This record gives sequence, structure tokens and C-alpha cells, in this order.
Amino acid sequence: MKRLIALVLVLPLLGCGSLYRFVTDRSKPPELAGPALDIVVKNVGQGQCLLLRAPGGRTAIIDGGLNRAIGTNVFLFLRDSLGTRRLDYAFASHYHVDHMGGLYTVLDSVMAPSRDSLVHGCFDRGHASPDTFYASYLQTVGDKRRTIELGQVFDLGDGATLQCVCVNSKVISGDSTVPPPNYAENSHSIGLLVRYRGFRMMIGSDIGGGAKYSDVESILAPCIGEVNVLYVNHHGSAHSSNEHWLRTLRPQASIISCGADNPWGHPAVACVDRLAAAKGNRIYQTEKGVGDVSRQTIVNGNVWVRVYGNEFTVAGDRYPVGR
Ligand SMILES: [Zn+2]
Repeated sequence: MKRLIALVLVLPLLGCGSLYRFVTDRSKPPELAGPALDIVVKNVGQGQCLLLRAPGGRTAIIDGGLNRAIGTNVFLFLRDSLGTRRLDYAFASHYHVDHMGGLYTVLDSVMAPSRDSLVHGCFDRGHASPDTFYASYLQTVGDKRRTIELGQVFDLGDGATLQCVCVNSKVISGDSTVPPPNYAENSHSIGLLVRYRGFRMMIGSDIGGGAKYSDVESILAPCIGEVNVLYVNHHGSAHSSNEHWLRTLRPQASIISCGADNPWGHPAVACVDRLAAAKGNRIYQTEKGVGDVSRQTIVNGNVWVRVYGNEFTVAGDRYPVGR
């Protein structure tokens, strides 16, 4: 036991030569001095929520998980772990409950002291949805609702930006696809490209890459080029992350957001096969999900990306921005 305690005390000291210290809890970022861009793939079970905090303190949220309880949890994380109760930008990627069911609760809490705490408003794809969560969303955002424009750039300060690269099945080059009627909502997702110095991360929400969904990925891929980190589309469904998408984007790390025992079989083995075959790509996942998990790092928590200098970390693993 004594030896174990000694080892625990000594291990953190080994990395003290640099600013960077390896973390033992993979859901926490490494401690470091100096400015950093934080991108957190929040563990919301089966659903989607990402939070960004730029070096100067500006923040953004993309979706808010499935329900009010999860939304409350996301707000507490924003306040307690990111140290702010203000959001500069909010995005509702598309009108499905696993993305929007918790979002209006987050926004409600953010705007409780003042509606100005949601500084630039909440951006969505326009149009409407017959679902009840959508009605609650409309009621909450009110005059803070904004319709996103293809190509629109959102300034997070210190050189960090988000850009809308696809929405409503249309991509930034002007190309578009016609989605099959039953699966249109996913294909209409807002896709956002994060840029900070040389670092790039693609967040495509639930866009697909063929089969029963329309192939937004293949027309979007040449507009994006290489990225450092890929947020895996549609929770790792079999109909997303096609070979063209992965070959063009060439991620060093890709992150799947899915829930334990989800009824959709996410992540699909076929998708994980393609991600694992992509050269130089490591796969991270929020929760165990369903299917083969032999090739992913299961964080069992938030997957935290921290970008600083010309390096970045994903769940505590360190990568160079340039390659
Ligand atoms: Zn979804």
C-alpha cells in the first residue's frame, strides 16, 4: 500500500518539466499556463451537446441533449466547470429531441438574470417543426432567435471562429442534395467548422453519407479538407462517416457521442470499421454505447479537447496541430 501511495505521489511530478501535465481522469483537461481554446463534447447519453470556450472567454453551445434534466446538468457544467453563466452564441443544429430537448432549459437558465446573457442569440436552420420541444424552444428564445446563413462566421475572439459550412442539405460551395422525405431532418443539420490558429475541427451534427440518408458528406468534404479533430456525424450511425469523408478530412482524432444501451445500435460496427481504418485516426467515445467498443477510448464522461500553442489534447492524449 505504501508503495502505491508513493507511486501516486511521484507520477504527477514526472511531467512537470513542461507546461503540460498528463491527467489521470480522462474527462478533465490537462492543466497548463497560457491561453487555450476548450471544446467539450459533453456526455449527454444518447444525444448531442458541445460547449466551446475561447481563450478570451467567449462561449458557444451546440445543442443541449435530450431533456430538461440533461439541460440543467449542462448549465451547471457551464457555470461550475467553464466558469461562466453567459453564452455568446447558441446553435440548434436541427429539430430532433436528442439535440433540442435540453437546449431550451440551458438557454432559460442562462437568460434568467438577463436576456443579454445570451449575447448574440440562438441560431437555427429556420423553418419549423411540429414537435412540442420546438414550441418550448420558440417560447424560450423569443426575440433571441436567429436564422443561420450558409457561410456565416461567428467570432469567438483571439482568432477563434466557427463557420456554418452546411445547412438544409446545402453546402458552402453551393452544391446541395435532395434528402429522402423520411430522413430529411438529419440531412438539414447545421455543420460548423472550428478554426483557431492552425487547428481545425469539423462538427457536422447528424448529416449523413449515403444509404437511406442523402450524401451531404461527399459534397461537403472537398469544402473542408483536412481537420485535426472530427466530431463523428450522427452518433456513429452506419449511414455516416463514409470513406470519402474520412479520406478527405484525415482526422487525427474523432469523437463519438452516444449513450449506453441506446436503441439505435450506435455506434454501428460498420462506422467504427471505417473510422478505425482511417490512417492515423484515434477514436474516442463519451459512453460505451452499443456494438463493438474494442477500438475506441471510452471516456465515460465528457471528451475534452484543449488547443494551446501548436498542440492539442483529446481526453488527455497529446497531438501536434501541424503534421
Ligand atoms: Zn441525433
